[in-house]
Amino acid sequence: MVDVAKLKEIARETVSRDDVKYLIGWRQGTFGFRAAPHFVNKPEDVDQLIFSPLCSHNLATYLTGVEKLPVPRGQEADSRKVALMVKGCDSRAVVLQLVEQGYGRDSVVVIGCPCQGVVDQKKVEAKYPDMGENITAEWGEKTIIFNLPSGKTEVPREEVLAGKCLTCRYPNPLLADAGAWEEVAVWGSDDYADVQDLEAGNPQERRAFWEDKFASCIRCYACRNVCPMCYCEDCILDRLNPQWITRAVNPTENTAFHLSRAFHLAGRCIECGECERVCPVDIPLMKLNRKLTKEVRENYDYEPGLDPEAKPLQASYRPNDKEDFIL
Ligand code: SF4
Ligand code: SF4
Ligand code: SF4
Repeated sequence: MVDVAKLKEIARETVSRDDVKYLIGWRQGTFGFRAAPHFVNKPEDVDQLIFSPLCSHNLATYLTGVEKLPVPRGQEADSRKVALMVKGCDSRAVVLQLVEQGYGRDSVVVIGCPCQGVVDQKKVEAKYPDMGENITAEWGEKTIIFNLPSGKTEVPREEVLAGKCLTCRYPNPLLADAGAWEEVAVWGSDDYADVQDLEAGNPQERRAFWEDKFASCIRCYACRNVCPMCYCEDCILDRLNPQWITRAVNPTENTAFHLSRAFHLAGRCIECGECERVCPVDIPLMKLNRKLTKEVRENYDYEPGLDPEAKPLQASYRPNDKEDFIL
């Protein structure tokens, strides 16, 4: 369990360092059960930091998003480090970004936060429709405690946790430079039950399932933009020349958008669930990601984001590979 007071102390020390430009963590949101990303530039801003079951955001997305060159003419690049608070799943994104050389290890300070699960906004909003402002939450013993306008209430965590947390096998950060914790016990196991119904269908049924889901996609790009592993400077989904996928929102282009993204993330998705969390039309993107994750795990015995020294899946090769799929 993480000691939030100690975490704040570490954060204060970290932002006071001359070689750190800012720290990214979470603060209380302004409505309902929401937290918000918090950029801490000076020690006084540390007081607003929180770490609670509301801290859903995978902040590793910012490491590749906000620091992009070019630097405005006449300005020097700021080469100081960025400090980042990470849960277990978030830490897998940092590990894989490092493996892919998205940035250098010396450009980031990782503050580890062992995690007992974050809530699914949709579940809690359905359970407590009369939500007000500034609802806070804390972890209990296998429960989540909400401080609602009507008073404190405690619910079993299974009722309100995000789906990814119910099967989480890595709640403790896999990479950290600092942290204030005792490791939390791993409670999840993963038999990919969520993709079994899809696998049970024949190809026509699967196609019909996804055609139906993709038809409602409004191509807002939120899933791509929030993804910590979607950080190519020249993304196939944006390219105009050659244009692989047009801007038209129709079943053909939507399908091309989703399949391109899924295959670009095969062996790279770290299962943080952010894409599905932000989708405004509730497309079950994790079903697609996790089907590929399962295939990669079963066929290549590989899980991304566990080892900063590991090679990326698609850059590794076994000389004794049977290659019996090649005719
Ligand atoms: S998947 Fe694991 S580490 Fe990530 S938020 Fe859920 S419990 Fe925490
Ligand atoms: S977030 Fe949802 S609606 Fe937006 S592009 Fe992705 S799948 Fe489509
Ligand atoms: S595809 Fe979704 S679950 Fe996978 S890393 Fe990206 S945001 Fe996370």
